[in-house]
Amino acid sequence: MNFVRSLLRKLEGNGVKCILCGSRHAKCIISIDGVGICGECYNEIIKTQAQDYYVVPGLERLFAPFEYSGRLRNAILDMKFNSSSAYAAVLAQLVIDALPPYYLYSDYDMLVPVPLHPKRYSDRGFNQAELLARSMEAGLGIELADDVLFRTRETQHQMSLTRAMREINVGGAFYADRKSVEGKRVMLVDDIYTAGATLRACSEELRSKGAAAVSAIVIAENFAKQHAGEIRIKIPVIHKQS
Ligand SMILES: [Zn+2]
Repeated sequence: MNFVRSLLRKLEGNGVKCILCGSRHAKCIISIDGVGICGECYNEIIKTQAQDYYVVPGLERLFAPFEYSGRLRNAILDMKFNSSSAYAAVLAQLVIDALPPYYLYSDYDMLVPVPLHPKRYSDRGFNQAELLARSMEAGLGIELADDVLFRTRETQHQMSLTRAMREINVGGAFYADRKSVEGKRVMLVDDIYTAGATLRACSEELRSKGAAAVSAIVIAENFAKQHAGEIRIKIPVIHKQS
């Protein structure tokens, strides 16, 4: 494997390819297996107001360190449509570096990617949330559990739906294994948070099967995209260490 990687690198030329601007750099801020994020792009990524986490309906905590905009948005879309585990590893590292103090997420028992329906999984060949969770497992120190939550109903892409339709679309679409999640503190992983309907539906199912608490980590939040006139409940929480 290492041999293949080094051969690939020789063929591709020297340097690290930034997944945000596409340029090669001798050195990047984040660099994993020949891809990374360069200093210029890193400085342009917009951090969210929540230095620690958001309180949103249905979740104990929402860790969403970045805004879904600019080049970061494009990189997330690239990961989603190109099955790039290298991109996922870089984005996962970006998130881990930006998370609040360790004690705020260290007491979770399992890292659970938001599942795709098996049909969509086989069409696409991968689940971007699973790629992310797999890349985050070691850095977070929370064990990956990709066999405890399932999507039992095919749902439409949330992107095209209004907020109310999003709730209906994913409501009751998930199934959690009671034996695995009962009494456990669950950390969900997804790529972005928009209206939160998917994470909320996962959380409801997990808690109905006895999960003690459910939180989520996403790369970026897309609050700006939410429909005008709706009540938004998002409280950025900042812990002051005494
Ligand atoms: Zn760059």
